[in-house]
Amino acid sequence: MAKTVHIIGGGLAGLSAAVDLAARGVATVVHEATDQAGGRCRSYDDAQSGMRIDNGTHILLSGNTAALGFLDRIGATKLISGAPRARFPFSDLGLNRRWTLDLGAGRLPLWMFDRRRRAPDTRARDYLALARLMLPVPDRTLSKVLNCKGPAYEQVMRPLLLAALNTDPSEASSDLVRAVVQGSIAQGGGACRPYLAPHGLSAAFVEPAIAYLKNNRGVLYFSHQLRRLDATAGAVTGLDFGDGVVAVGPQDAVVLAIPPWAARSIIPELKAPDEFRAIVNAHFRITPPSGVEPMLGILNGTAEWIFFFDDRISATISGADRFMHHTKDELAGMIWRDVQRVADVPAELPPWQIVRERRATFAATPAQNAKRPGIGTAWRNLALAGDWTDTGLPATIESAVRSGTRAAAFVMQS
Ligand SMILES: Cc1cc2nc3c(=O)[nH]c(=O)nc-3n(C[C@H](O)[C@H](O)[C@H](O)COP(=O)(O)OP(=O)(O)OC[C@H]3O[C@@H](n4cnc5c(N)ncnc54)[C@H](O)[C@@H]3O)c2cc1C
Repeated sequence: MAKTVHIIGGGLAGLSAAVDLAARGVATVVHEATDQAGGRCRSYDDAQSGMRIDNGTHILLSGNTAALGFLDRIGATKLISGAPRARFPFSDLGLNRRWTLDLGAGRLPLWMFDRRRRAPDTRARDYLALARLMLPVPDRTLSKVLNCKGPAYEQVMRPLLLAALNTDPSEASSDLVRAVVQGSIAQGGGACRPYLAPHGLSAAFVEPAIAYLKNNRGVLYFSHQLRRLDATAGAVTGLDFGDGVVAVGPQDAVVLAIPPWAARSIIPELKAPDEFRAIVNAHFRITPPSGVEPMLGILNGTAEWIFFFDDRISATISGADRFMHHTKDELAGMIWRDVQRVADVPAELPPWQIVRERRATFAATPAQNAKRPGIGTAWRNLALAGDWTDTGLPATIESAVRSGTRAAAFVMQS
């Protein structure tokens, strides 16, 4: 009999596994607990702001080859838009100055040696200190490897690494920081061009994946939450969704692509990250003034990145646990004041929404990194996937997609 692979979880890890398997001609069934796919990378219609908004603005870099490969396969490359150059304009609200980090296009880090292309008050050797990360030492906090102080750290390394790791970089895992640097700056500006999804995350990452699956023998069930696994003789034999058990035949396989806390409710003995960091996003329904850059880094403000789309202005705060006790009204006001300082917008708040994702990613610390499991499990036909599995990367789209691809390859051998 032909193989069927059940994929539990319709986030990007699950969709990536399903798309990979479908591309090999395997029958796939995605079971998603909620009424929509996308997980932590999704869009929804928001009544308060009157907009379709993303749970959070997501950035890809041109070096995210797995994520871009996934988009290419599902025919969605045209739904993201990439900056022509790896230029990152910043506005420092504390010192009231603007400057641009311009990483150029070449492999050599010539930008470090050009004061017009690096942060103010920094020297080339401040950035060359990153080379210390490349030494193969046991995983430890970044502050034990680099001096997490000074203008180059505060103005360049901290904001870029915080965005990638969603964890204060000084307490972050040096292994994960190394992986981020190796996949981006160490490859030159060509790997650091930012990509955004101006038409929304679901339009780019989710809807085309669903269409691809449906066109390639894929089936998707929504509001279908896995409650329990049935197993005998080292293999999963059934999937209990509460409304009935789906049989898993001897030739079939399962990819469990759900978040770590959900995976532990299914497999209590599973070792998995259990500390998380929040992300706050703000969305304002307003046409931005003309001439603004699509993406602006903010220093010494509340917002960390402000994005100017055609029909809205959005802002992101990573590692945002300190803001979980603020009301949404307070956050909207604080963030809008930052927007007012960097763009010619009215003082009055436009229609807005604040999205707080409390468990946006696992905390990218050495202790949490050590808790990430591999793909294989005690059951020969059950693979794990998710941005929190041991991909060597922080919890990002790239990590989720890679984990899905790995799980697909694993179950093909099972
Ligand atoms: C606000 C925010 C901003 C972010 N920004 C960026 C960014 O700029 N760049 C970047 O690369 N990454 C970013 N990320 C991270 C990125 O979104 C995640 O790494 C990625 O989406 C994780 O995908 P996943 O499939 O591993 O997990 P999830 O998206 O969590 O998917 C898991 C799915 O499993 C489902 N599920 C749970 N339990 C069950 C069950 N029992 N049965 C069936 N289904 C179940 C869930 O409903 C969910 O759909 C951001 C995340 C957030 C929250």
